[in-house]
Amino acid sequence: MSCPYRKGIDMNTKEVIAQYDKFVMKTYGRIPCVIVKGKGLKVWDLDGKEYLDFFPGWAVSGLGHCHPKVASAVRNYLKKIIHVPNNYYNMLQGKLAEKIIENSFEGKVFFCNSGAEANEGAIKLARSYGNSTGGRYEIITMENAFHGRTLATITATGQQKYLQGFEPLPAGFKKAAFNNIKAVENAITDKTAAIMIEPIQGEGGINVAGDDYIKQLRELCDKKDLILIFDEVQTGIGRTGKMFGFQHYGIAPDVMTLAKSLGGGLPIGAMAAGKKFADILKPGMHASTFGGSPIVCSAALAVFEAIQKEKLLPNTVRMGKYLVEKLEELKKKKSIIKEVRGKGLMIGVELTIPGKEIVEKCLQEGLMINCTHDKVLRIMPGMIVTKKQIDKAVGILNKVM
Ligand SMILES: *Cc1c(COP(=O)(O)O)cnc(C)c1O
Repeated sequence: MSCPYRKGIDMNTKEVIAQYDKFVMKTYGRIPCVIVKGKGLKVWDLDGKEYLDFFPGWAVSGLGHCHPKVASAVRNYLKKIIHVPNNYYNMLQGKLAEKIIENSFEGKVFFCNSGAEANEGAIKLARSYGNSTGGRYEIITMENAFHGRTLATITATGQQKYLQGFEPLPAGFKKAAFNNIKAVENAITDKTAAIMIEPIQGEGGINVAGDDYIKQLRELCDKKDLILIFDEVQTGIGRTGKMFGFQHYGIAPDVMTLAKSLGGGLPIGAMAAGKKFADILKPGMHASTFGGSPIVCSAALAVFEAIQKEKLLPNTVRMGKYLVEKLEELKKKKSIIKEVRGKGLMIGVELTIPGKEIVEKCLQEGLMINCTHDKVLRIMPGMIVTKKQIDKAVGILNKVM
C-alpha cells in the first residue's frame, strides 16, 4: 500500500501546503493532498495513500498516468533535442499534424500549448476570415459553455463567475441557449462570423448536444458562410468513444480545437482548420513560441499510437456502457441521483443535492472524481479502465451515498 516512489521526498504534506500558501497565488481551491506518483489509474499521495483516479486532470491523463508509450517516446526524444523554434522545422510537428488530419478532416493544424490558446487561435482565424468577407467579427457561443481563462475565452465562456471584475471585455461575443437552434438563429446578425460550441459541455455539466441540433448548426453555417468551431479540448482524443466528439454526428466542423488528452499529460494545444480555412492565417498573423516542440509532439504521437495499438476506442465504448449500466443500477437505489448522461467515458451524474461532500468522501475512500455545476458528478476515467476498476469505483460511490 505504501507509495512506491519515496526517493527524493524531503517535505511532508503540511510543509508543502505551507510553501504554496506563502509563494503560490491562491487561484485554485485545492484539495489538501500532495500527489507524488501516478501509474495507470492509480495515484499515490505524499503520505503513501493510494487512490483510484476517475477524473485524471480534467481528462489530461486520458490514457492513465505515465502511459509507458508516452513516457518512453518523451525519454527518447529528450536525448536529441527539447525545443526547436518555429522559424525552423522539426521532425515531429508535421507528423503529428498529419495524424490529427488523418483522423479528423482534410485541412491543416496550428500548434500551441493549451485549450484556451487553441480557442484564441480559432477566434482570431474566425475574425480574420469574417473581417475579410464583409466586416464580420461576432462569434456566437452557448450558455454554460467553457472555453478557457484568457480575456477572449472567458468572454466566449460568458458565465458571470468567470468574468466578474475583469471588465472591459473584448467586444463581439454573443450568447445563445445550448441545444436550441432558434436561439442561434436569433443571435445571428450580418456581423456574425462564427459559431463556437462544445459537442458535450464539460464544465457546464456534461450536456450532450442533440443530433438534429448539430446537423442544423452545420446547415446554418453553410447557408450563412459562418465558421463552425468545435471546442474539443475535453471531448477530443477518444474521450467519448470516438477519436473526436464531432464524429458522433456525421458532420465535420470547420475548425476544431484540442488540448487536454492530446499530449498524454504534457502541455500541448492544437487548432485544426478544414481545407477552406486552412490558409487564412498567414506568416506573421499568429504564433506560439513553444507550440509544436518535438517533445510534446513525441508525446502526442505516442498517444495516437497507444489508442490504435491497444484498441482503446472500443474499450472506451465498452467500459462507458458498463459504467453507465452500473450507475443506472445505483440510481435505482439512491434517490439523490436524478440522471446519468454522457458519451463514452465522459459521464455526468446529476444529483438532487450539491455534490461537493460526495466528492470529498469519495476521496477519503480512495476514489478521485469531480463535481461541476454544483450538482453534477463528473466521472471520466482513463481509456484503459477495466470492469474491475469500475466495480470498485461504483462500490465506493454506493457506500458514500
Ligand atoms: C479545459 C477546457 C478549456 C481550457 O483549456 P486550458 O488548457 O485550461 O486553457 C477550453 N475548453 C474546454 C471545453 C475545456 O474543457
